[in-house]
Amino acid sequence: MPAVASLFLFIAAAHAAAGQELRVAFIDCGKGDAIFIKTPSGKNVLLDAGPPNNARAVTSYLRRAKVLQLDAAILSHPHPDHAGGFEAVFEDFPVALAYESGREDHYPEYEQFKSGVNRKGIHHKLLKAGGKVYIDPHLDVQVLWPPSAEYDENTNNDSIVLRVVYGRTAILFTGDIEKKAEAGLVRQNGGRLESQVLKSPHHGYATSSTAILLKSVKPRLVVISTGEGRRPEKAVLKRYVRAGIRVLRTDEDGTVTLASDGIEWRVK
Ligand SMILES: [Zn+2]
Repeated sequence: MPAVASLFLFIAAAHAAAGQELRVAFIDCGKGDAIFIKTPSGKNVLLDAGPPNNARAVTSYLRRAKVLQLDAAILSHPHPDHAGGFEAVFEDFPVALAYESGREDHYPEYEQFKSGVNRKGIHHKLLKAGGKVYIDPHLDVQVLWPPSAEYDENTNNDSIVLRVVYGRTAILFTGDIEKKAEAGLVRQNGGRLESQVLKSPHHGYATSSTAILLKSVKPRLVVISTGEGRRPEKAVLKRYVRAGIRVLRTDEDGTVTLASDGIEWRVK
């Protein structure tokens, strides 16, 4: 068995690049998601762009991070608190590729996302479960949700779920999935969901973070993107605490920045 174990470690470690970090910043943008990812090779990815009234929080963060262009912009699902900042982002930064699930909705913020992609001539792709995002050879970016068959009546349940693996570390981005999608995700992926870091699904509301999800992901750290208005619910926070999970939240901690060297995560 020792030979098998050391072979596994060798293979796993081979994915991580010596001295290069994966950085993830949950930008404090009020109630919404805007997550900036700097890959080990230096590619820039923006996963959601926050609500429309706080687009400046996102664009000024990107400027402070000295981002000149985005290699990928990903919309988890077409709700205003995720799509709202993209119009400003597209105006201020060249974007190479835009990804979405293909689940449509009639919010003006989503229409602006689509018209921005067209106006700027941004390449556009759909992400479905079973796919990958090839952005950096040091990362394994797995698309775990939504399934391609049909859409749910609840747009949240069609959020793109990404598991980003760097060396021995993993982080699970969940958009706003709720109970039903969490059950489907666990059914389809079981133990392959394990990740040390979990983005709290749906801003820490009691619609989500079911026991079955937490049991499969086994996170040690949960990050909640939230702000003014509806706050994370006590029952969910209790569930995290009972499971021994550390909680960071953008409304109390500001922008939350994490870094992985392929071996472990650090909070910056
Ligand atoms: Zn949301």
